[in-house]
Amino acid sequence: MTEDFICEDCNEKYESIFALIEHKEIDIQIPVRITNEISMDLWNIFRAINEMVHDEDYEAIKMVTDAIGTTLYSAAQGTLDDIVDEMYIEDSLENLDEKLKELLDEQTDNDN
Ligand SMILES: [Zn+2]
Repeated sequence: MTEDFICEDCNEKYESIFALIEHKEIDIQIPVRITNEISMDLWNIFRAINEMVHDEDYEAIKMVTDAIGTTLYSAAQGTLDDIVDEMYIEDSLENLDEKLKELLDEQTDNDN
């Protein structure tokens, strides 16, 4: 069962918290440090996955969650800093799916 997310200002309904927050033009970042050098933005990751669920793009969801799992595993093993720089996560996600690339570009441009 999904619930509606309603803007208290204009009473517009949105199908996800991510769509509502984008409508309200609130910039949210939840960087979670996974090594000394590298952070993942949890908000952006879940926003992207939510979008893929909406599009029923389960292949993309599988690729992204596999990539995140692999990244977290490397971080837990202490090998991630050796392999990558801070752009790694964004780059690897970008390569997986055009839609996610758009989302990451949106975050940088911030014009939506
Ligand atoms: Zn509104």
